[in-house]
Amino acid sequence: MQVANSRRTAILRRDAVLATVPVAVAALLAAAGPASASTIGASGAGDPYFPLSGNGGYHVSHYDLTLRYDISSRHLDGKAVLTARATEKLTRFDLDLNGLKVTRVTVDGRTAHFSRSGQELLVTPSRALAKGREFRVAVSYNGTPKQVTDPDGSADGWIATDDGAFVAGEPQGAMTWFPANSHPKDKSSYDFTITVPKGSTAVANGVLLGQHTAQGRTTFRWRQSEPMAAYLATATVGKFKVDQFTTRDGIKVYNAVDPREANGSAAVLKKLPSVLEWESKLFGPYPFRSAGSIVDHAPSIGYALETQGRPLYDSAPDLSTLVHENAHQWFGDSVSLTAWKDIWLNEAFATYAEWLYSEQHGGDSAQKAFDALYARPASDELWAYPPGDPGSGENIFGTPVYARGAMALHELRKAVGDRVFFRILRAWASEHRYGHGTTAEFVKLAEGESGKDLGSLFHTWLYEKGKPNQA
Ligand code: ZN
Repeated sequence: MQVANSRRTAILRRDAVLATVPVAVAALLAAAGPASASTIGASGAGDPYFPLSGNGGYHVSHYDLTLRYDISSRHLDGKAVLTARATEKLTRFDLDLNGLKVTRVTVDGRTAHFSRSGQELLVTPSRALAKGREFRVAVSYNGTPKQVTDPDGSADGWIATDDGAFVAGEPQGAMTWFPANSHPKDKSSYDFTITVPKGSTAVANGVLLGQHTAQGRTTFRWRQSEPMAAYLATATVGKFKVDQFTTRDGIKVYNAVDPREANGSAAVLKKLPSVLEWESKLFGPYPFRSAGSIVDHAPSIGYALETQGRPLYDSAPDLSTLVHENAHQWFGDSVSLTAWKDIWLNEAFATYAEWLYSEQHGGDSAQKAFDALYARPASDELWAYPPGDPGSGENIFGTPVYARGAMALHELRKAVGDRVFFRILRAWASEHRYGHGTTAEFVKLAEGESGKDLGSLFHTWLYEKGKPNQA
């Protein structure tokens, strides 16, 4: 029932898009059903909140990104080599790329025809790709990256700063700096080779393989080996103080801090190893081989992002924010969304981690946090829409998703007891590690682990409109 409904929504949205982007018609028809014999990959992954994000017809297993950024002119030169596999016969497929100038595209070394339409880069290989075939697409591009404004009004993507760039991609920003299959459904490993003026640092995801300086420039090589959604990629550039060490658990930590934020962040960053240890006890082993923080000085941004293996902060984070972004490494990064509608699986879990941290470190209990929220009047924005069905991309980072979503987890904890509740969290992280999850799967897991019918609890807290009546 649920599935049928959401599919209908997706098709309606596609119709709306169809009217404005005629070039995508064939792809949309291809996505509409098996009756069509089209060999053109769909222009979107089928997410109703962001219909053109991601693409159909292939999966990317690896991105090899070579970038050179000139800070003063804000010019980016890029080459992206994607290793992908066709999931259907393809005479044409799309990549997501917003802005920038594409100079050349090859598929398996042969020049491919390409054109642009909005955020879609349409690629026509010189020979059709058979279903199941692995192929390599190389895109050369350059220009001044332009940030995107999200439906909620915040900026996202490659955002120039006074000393480099703050690079955050949730939900749509990855395509402002590299051609991607930009939907969390598609996860890949990444290699980054980033060249910046000497004296500046380029920080991406994963482990630093090496850096070398020549002719006034420094090149940084990073490798993210575990699967990652495109929106979690970063290549943040600035003047940073760097601190590197390995934790007792063998995790490689790389902290990059804008000197203007050094005093304000030192005490909190010092706690990172103990926060990761505490989270590992609660949620199971830390999923990645790298960790750390990028503390930029970009006060206009107004948010932090759980960039994989190394969260990105727009200024010195407080301890709660550090706990939140690192909890996302389990919930959001290792276990990814299948649809943006399920965003509470990311944000509510990371918020509840903050409550738990406070409770277990001499602060307010989760119950107290719950009670303070529940005391808010029915007219409060907290009750504006249900967290399990935010309604549109505009609402995915709103208070109901974070706070009422965390209240839903607290209700679950009270219903099943602490022992089972933490078992559910660990099972969620381990069963979906490096993969994906849906709300329906979480509910099923919670019911399986507890042996209880939790349908009405989740219905009340995730889907009911307005302020729930407390049981
Ligand atoms: Zn979050």
